[in-house]
Amino acid sequence: MNRMFGRWRQASRTSRVLVMAGAAMTVGFAVVALLAPLLAPYGQAAHDAPQLSRPSLDHFFGTTNDRFDVLSRVIFGARLAFQVVLASTTFALFIGVPLGLVSGYTGGRLDRALVLVMDALYAFPSLLLAIVMAFALQRWIGPGVPAAALSISVIYIPQYFRVVRNHTLAVREETFVDAARAMGAPRRVILTRYVAANVLQSVPVIFTVNAADAVLTLAGLGFLGQGPGLRTAEWGFDISRAITDVGIGAWWTSLFPGLAIVALVTGMSLLGEGINDILNPRLRAAGMSAEGLIPGFDAEADATPPPLATVEGDASESVPTADPPAVEDAGRELPRSIQAVYRDDAPARPASSDGAAALLVDDVSVTYRSARGPVHAVQNVSLAVRAGESVGLVGESGCGKSTLGRAVMGVLPPVAERTGQVLLDGVDLTADAEAWRRARGDRLSLVFQDPATRLDPLQRIESHFVELIRAHRPGTSKADAARMSREALAAVGVPPARSRQYPHEFSGGMRQRIMIALAVVLEPRVLIADEPTTSLDVLVEAQILDLMSELRRRLGLAVVLITHNLGIVAETCDRVAVMYAGRIVEEGPVASVFAAPRHPYTQALLSAVITLETQAPAAVPGSPPDLAGSLPGCPFAPRCPLAMAVCHEVIPAGSQVADDHAAACHLYPGADPTHPDQAWEPDGRRLRLAEPPLSGTLR
Ligand code: SF4
Repeated sequence: MNRMFGRWRQASRTSRVLVMAGAAMTVGFAVVALLAPLLAPYGQAAHDAPQLSRPSLDHFFGTTNDRFDVLSRVIFGARLAFQVVLASTTFALFIGVPLGLVSGYTGGRLDRALVLVMDALYAFPSLLLAIVMAFALQRWIGPGVPAAALSISVIYIPQYFRVVRNHTLAVREETFVDAARAMGAPRRVILTRYVAANVLQSVPVIFTVNAADAVLTLAGLGFLGQGPGLRTAEWGFDISRAITDVGIGAWWTSLFPGLAIVALVTGMSLLGEGINDILNPRLRAAGMSAEGLIPGFDAEADATPPPLATVEGDASESVPTADPPAVEDAGRELPRSIQAVYRDDAPARPASSDGAAALLVDDVSVTYRSARGPVHAVQNVSLAVRAGESVGLVGESGCGKSTLGRAVMGVLPPVAERTGQVLLDGVDLTADAEAWRRARGDRLSLVFQDPATRLDPLQRIESHFVELIRAHRPGTSKADAARMSREALAAVGVPPARSRQYPHEFSGGMRQRIMIALAVVLEPRVLIADEPTTSLDVLVEAQILDLMSELRRRLGLAVVLITHNLGIVAETCDRVAVMYAGRIVEEGPVASVFAAPRHPYTQALLSAVITLETQAPAAVPGSPPDLAGSLPGCPFAPRCPLAMAVCHEVIPAGSQVADDHAAACHLYPGADPTHPDQAWEPDGRRLRLAEPPLSGTLR
């Protein structure tokens, strides 16, 4: 409600005048319709007045050829118009909106079938369709309001359906809906809280526009003799009866019903236009500053993020001062994760030393169906991450890093097919889709690249937390979930008092902190961070990376950091996996891989890192291969300075090149499955591979 008042205050004067004028006219007619038996001087079926009497004190609007009082017929006509219009547009709304939502969100055969039916209805001339329906319904249930309302509603069901379906198609691809899926929200919640909440904003506008159109359609049906009949006042029918009166000078019999139609349609149209202006802020954005557009927006305050609060000790000192939660109180009921971050004396969870992987990716492949044939985005990738360990996943754009992250989360698009297993603490998630959904956002979390679009713009920050917590902990009360959200926000350096604000009121760095708080609030075992700092400046990037490292240490998270930035990996990761063309081509401890990279692609990547010593920037020559179709040998062969004949024919397998360090390259024994004991040597050009990389240093 506050948001509606806010939008009303921000609306332009013209919009407000339109709404008020339209509302006054519509409400005026509604009052007349409601009080028709009291206001009308005569009954709508009383036809004992003088025939074709001019407007007079006895009959203000005159009388008709059928001896009806025109004013009474106009008043009762308003009553019928409201009954039919409200019934027909409401009925159409309750059928068309849910169908549009489900059809647009689920897609597939159901969508195609519904679109076919609705398009057929939409293509039918609307008045003709209403006449056919009215003709059939009058014989089935008799003439009257129900028959008229149902016959008109058939016209508007496809209109609601089309608008809502198209809007749903767009909203379901929004990144905040994607984020809700990745957090494990059930389909019902996604559809109602995320998609419907955004789509239904357009419904009031469609309703008023359809209502205005329904007035005309009802008049058209009445004019053509398909209305409720002579004894029920209906403006279109009365005009049809008065059509010949104009020729004999009786102008009043058609003028007043006609004016009533024009006035009601105009009022409803103005109301719809005004509501549209107010509900759609983009129409106003061009002429307003951010401060005017966003309630509560304070550019100066938002530009300066608060200090990294909780990760460095006493919360009372470091949490921003606005409404910090009481530490004593927090100590009683805080979730373990937040206590761990809040309290300086809370022990850090040790990294797993027993070798058991919190996350095990086992031989995972992902293939996208495309018009050009299958695209092999990820091929036979295996990866293990222990609790408390951080693994950097690096490579050029398009090498499959993000697809692998999505495959682990189980949120691949419908055109993708996955094989292989994803095990969380030894449990195969791929064997149980529902268990996988429950794990998302709970024990398996994802931090996205662009926090600006991952939060629902219509929901307060607190609502995101409440939704997530209650989806995974159904017994949690809203109050407890809200408290947990404030504590989680404080833990990542966001003032808890701001939990009631909307995403657009935060800077990029603050939004990323919020995303991280969302990711860790339920104490996950595994955190996938997909380019979490790409959209941030270097100072905020450093803060976010520090925060993630501290949370990993304190919570014992197994972290997979997807990035193209080797410097970040060097600073924050224990191990690194280098991906190329959908495969992991080298993997090992960061110190080992960066100090002595074995795969030519890793060497080329490291040589392209710009450091203070760099004289001339280097780039990896060429570009990654097209992953559509199959590649016969090593995918890096076309770019590799050491490529040999065997490289173009045999895909190299991973082989051990040092302790806990593997590379997939024919230069090392074991890489060639057809000659497992052989290391191939390029003719006279072999690099001294034990030496440090061509350039770049490990910091
Ligand atoms: S297998 Fe051959 S082409 Fe591939 S990286 Fe090794 S040397 Fe280069």
